[in-house]
Amino acid sequence: MEKKLYDLKVDPELRELIPPLSDEERYMLEESIVRDGCDTPLAVWNGTIVDGHNRYEICHAHGIPFGIEEKDFPDKDAAMFWMLERQLARRNLNSYQRSQIGLKYESFYREQAKKRQATLSGGSNPQLLQNSAEAEKGNAMDKLGKMVGVSRDTLAKVKELDANADDRTKEKLRKGEVSIHRAYTDMKNKEHEGQTRVCESCGEEKPFSDFSIPSKSKEYRPICKKCEEKSKAAAKAAEKAAYLPGPPSVTGIGVRNGQIALVSTGLPDDPGMFSHVIDLFKHSQNAYLVAFEATLANYHPSMITEEHNEMIRQMIDYVAETTEKMLDQHLNAQKEEK
Ligand SMILES: [Zn+2]
Repeated sequence: MEKKLYDLKVDPELRELIPPLSDEERYMLEESIVRDGCDTPLAVWNGTIVDGHNRYEICHAHGIPFGIEEKDFPDKDAAMFWMLERQLARRNLNSYQRSQIGLKYESFYREQAKKRQATLSGGSNPQLLQNSAEAEKGNAMDKLGKMVGVSRDTLAKVKELDANADDRTKEKLRKGEVSIHRAYTDMKNKEHEGQTRVCESCGEEKPFSDFSIPSKSKEYRPICKKCEEKSKAAAKAAEKAAYLPGPPSVTGIGVRNGQIALVSTGLPDDPGMFSHVIDLFKHSQNAYLVAFEATLANYHPSMITEEHNEMIRQMIDYVAETTEKMLDQHLNAQKEEK
């Protein structure tokens, strides 16, 4: 590889795609090149740098010769795509760093989408054109996200963080000391400090920090954390109910979906049967209570209160007591007959 001080073209659009080095990274690269020379050749396409912008600057600043590797691309788009792949292939990048690199290519991906869309629609129907343009815009971010390895929403969060977060937060993100989701939530809470909003479930007015942001969204949940907890607990209860042991099986009594579906006539009327019926009855009671709570919670978590639960329990207990009394009386009457 012949090394010399090549004079290469720098395309500002391509240069812009390379995230700037931190002061520390720049210092280390410079020191190593000054000490050992430039060992990695710069990638060049038609006399323009496609990889090695930082090395080029350092080598020229110190008069250090370097090698080049000629690349062959059909057009600039292909060169840009190659650059993205190359940057993402670097090891030890966390999702924040990958997203940062990806976002540099946002307009590139949007342009690609526009080109695709223009070829697809031919422009005969303006309505259709509008819709597919919108769809392609979304697709562009999905495609970019896929390339980077994060969701479209994560890309959007990183974009906002890069625009608004303080330097300390960005540093932590780069070092992987805080997750994108955590940093985004903290930033949003700070933005809304001192402001309140009304929970759609309990109707209480609460500070923004009492609401969470789902990891797959950029917006706060409409219900407060407390109501969210209730809703989660109820969902758990419902899940548990789905795994409750099935009702005891009794010959002559058919049960389907927890409900008694069939009772054949002429069942033995004895203490054994009596305790079977009580077991079935208790099972239905539990299942009913769980289903009731889960339904309420899904409908409106704020309706799950101790007071409501107590009312439901009392109602069920009342029905249970009455039924057991009836069964008891029946059993006693039978004993007396014998
Ligand atoms: Zn609430």
